[in-house]
Amino acid sequence: MGKFHPNVDKYVVSRVRALESILLDRGILPADAVDRIVQMYESDTGPQYGARAVAKAWTNPTFKRRLLTNSTAALSELGLEYDQLIVVENTDAVHNLVVCTLCSCYPWPVLGFPPNWYKSPAYRARAVSEPRALLKELGLEVPSEREIRVWDSSSEMRYMVLPQKPDGVDGFTEERLLPLITRDSLIGVATPLPAGGA
Ligand code: FE
Repeated sequence: MGKFHPNVDKYVVSRVRALESILLDRGILPADAVDRIVQMYESDTGPQYGARAVAKAWTNPTFKRRLLTNSTAALSELGLEYDQLIVVENTDAVHNLVVCTLCSCYPWPVLGFPPNWYKSPAYRARAVSEPRALLKELGLEVPSEREIRVWDSSSEMRYMVLPQKPDGVDGFTEERLLPLITRDSLIGVATPLPAGGA
């Protein structure tokens, strides 16, 4: 994924640092506010909710149907109030890929921080213009007969992929499935980890 770090990142980072230090200097922002928010997204949210929803969907067909048709209801069963998510299911016929072509809209409460490459102009453009080639470069070869559907996120609606269950996990509990479900598999740039590899 290293190839998707645009120069603009450096600019954004220094701008944010400058802004943060002004806010701190003037006492507008409590000293630990930024750290606390970062911490919250890194450890309290992260991709946990997304992964948990997928693990539950893989083991519970009724929950899966709810997740795909009414994600707000399904997520609230997991203790998360969030009404801006559409969940799209990968099948043998369709592979789904999530992008925000305009900027970097992303379902933070479900997936945590977006990876840097998600915000890069290269990813945002190529996810639409040549998704198959892009995915191949990222290490995911989608069979040629499988359609790739690209979902363009917006400030109103965000997307998450329900990946296909890996082989050999029948009878696995949600807890055993969880570590197989990576953030990247929920964006659609990877498949979940194989059962033996986690
Ligand atoms: Fe956006």
